[in-house]
Amino acid sequence: MHENNKIHKVVIIGSGPAGHTAAVYAARADLMPVMFEGFMAGGVAAGGQLTTTTEVENYPGFPEGISGPELTDHFRAQSLRFGTVIHTETISQVDLSKRPFQLWREGMENEPPVLASSIIIATGATAKRLNLPGEETYWQNGISACAVCDGALPIYRNAPLAVIGGGDSAAEEATFLTKFGSRIFLIHRRDTLRASRIMAERVLKNPKIEPVWNSVPLETKGDTKKLTSLVVKNVQTGDIRELTVGGLFYAIGHKPNSDPFKGQLEMDADGYIVTKPGSSFTSVEGVFAAGDVQDKRYRQAITAAGSGCMAALDAERWLEGH
Ligand code: FAD
Repeated sequence: MHENNKIHKVVIIGSGPAGHTAAVYAARADLMPVMFEGFMAGGVAAGGQLTTTTEVENYPGFPEGISGPELTDHFRAQSLRFGTVIHTETISQVDLSKRPFQLWREGMENEPPVLASSIIIATGATAKRLNLPGEETYWQNGISACAVCDGALPIYRNAPLAVIGGGDSAAEEATFLTKFGSRIFLIHRRDTLRASRIMAERVLKNPKIEPVWNSVPLETKGDTKKLTSLVVKNVQTGDIRELTVGGLFYAIGHKPNSDPFKGQLEMDADGYIVTKPGSSFTSVEGVFAAGDVQDKRYRQAITAAGSGCMAALDAERWLEGH
C-alpha cells in the first residue's frame, strides 16, 4: 500500500505552473499535498510545457525574461520549500466513483492505489506537431507551437513567417503574427478555412497574410542554427515549393492530457475537462481541475498558475466541509 494506506488530503496530478501553484497554496494551508509530477507524461518532462521552450518574457516578476526550464525549476523549489511531497511518477488510472478516491501509478497498476480525499488535476495539454524532417534541430530556433508566447521574440521580427492550420487558432495566430513578421504564409491542406466566418474574413482581407491553399509541409530547412525555409507540397497539383521563412508556427490543435479521467469526469468533445465557470469544480465533488487541461482558450503559464491557485483554495474550502 502506498505510504501505509494513508489518505492524503490533497493529491495533485501534474507539474506545470497550475500544479505547482496549487501545491504552494495547499502546502501553506497545511494540507500536506502530494504531487505526482509525471515521468514523461504526455511526452513532456516533469515541469510541463515550459520545459520545451527557451525564453519566457511574459511571466510577471522576471523583467529580463527567464528560460522555461529555469522557471519550472523555481516552481518546483517553491513547492518543496513549503513541504509538498513530489513523486516522479505518472498517474495512469483513477477511480473517482468512491471515497476516498483511488489513484494508480503507471507501471504499478497491480499495486494498491494511492488514496486521496481530494484531487487537483493539472495535467496540462500537449501541442500537436507534425515532426517534420529538420524539426528537432530547429524547434525553438524558428519553430514554435505558440505564437502568443514566442511571436514577439527578436528572431521572428520582420521575417517572413509560416502558420500551419486552418481553424480559429490558425486564423488568430496568423493575424497576431502580422504585428511582427514581414509576411505571413498561412498553409492549409484545404482551399477554405475551417475558422469561423468572421475570423476567416479578417485573415483573407489582411494584406500581410498569404494563404497557401491545398498544401502540406514536407520539410524544414535551416543553416544548422535556425530555420530558413519550409518545403510545401500542393496536394492537388503535386507542385513543390520552398518558402523562405524565419519562423514556423503550428496551430493544429492541442491534446489535453485527460485520458486517465475519461468516462469519470465531464469533458467537452475535444477531451478538455469541464469546470464550473469561475471556479475549478469538476463534475465530481472533491475533484478540481486547473490549467491547460481545462482551458482551450488562454493557454498561458500565468492563467494556468492563476487557476492552480483557484483549485487549491476551492479544495481547501471544500475539505473544511467534508
Ligand atoms: P503543463 O505545462 O502542460 O504541464 C502539465 C504536466 O503535468 C505535463 O507536462 C506532465 O509533465 C505532467 N502530467 C501530465 N499528465 C500526467 C499524469 N497522468 N500524471 C502525472 N503527471 C502528469 N506560456 C506563457 O505564458 N509564456 C510563454 O512564453 C510560453 N511559451 C510556450 C512555448 C511553447 C513551445 C509551448 C508548447 C507553450 C508555451 N506556453 C507559454 C504555454 C504554457 O507552457 C502553458 O500554458 C502552461 O505550461 C500550462 O500549464 P499547466 O500547468 O496547465 O500544464
